[in-house]
Amino acid sequence: MTALATPRLYKLRPWLIRALIPEGVPGSYVLYRQGVPVYVGRSDTDLQRRLLAHTASMRGEYFSFSTCTHALNAFSSECALYHAPPPGGIENKVHPAAPPQSGALCPFCPGTIAASRGNRLQALAHPVGLSIQEPRPPHDVEDTRQQDNRQQGSAS
Ligand SMILES: [Zn+2]
Repeated sequence: MTALATPRLYKLRPWLIRALIPEGVPGSYVLYRQGVPVYVGRSDTDLQRRLLAHTASMRGEYFSFSTCTHALNAFSSECALYHAPPPGGIENKVHPAAPPQSGALCPFCPGTIAASRGNRLQALAHPVGLSIQEPRPPHDVEDTRQQDNRQQGSAS
């Protein structure tokens, strides 16, 4: 396990939650016990309040979090954590529910991915599940620059 794959963990304490997360911001989180992830969750309206509630539940000792600009982003973030939890796994037994009346689908469920592959328009709007393009090799960039230099040279 590399350091890059390890999220920053914070002690689940009210003062620290208040210091890190503003009020009224949606987000997702992971709770840890003895260094092992145990639970993923989210708040569509106030991540700070949700984590403060967890300080009383004794469900975890540490947490990691991600704030979001919108409830739908918090839902997608929680779904990602649910389907690909941090090393060690989680105890969640129920798939995250979509925000009420949003009609949102989990972008990581096999059914959603298959549906988006069957409809190119949806696939373009929701690129999750598409194959990742190889990045252009760096020498392409150098070639372009050399061409530009040549053009500039001939122009002057
Ligand atoms: Zn899902």
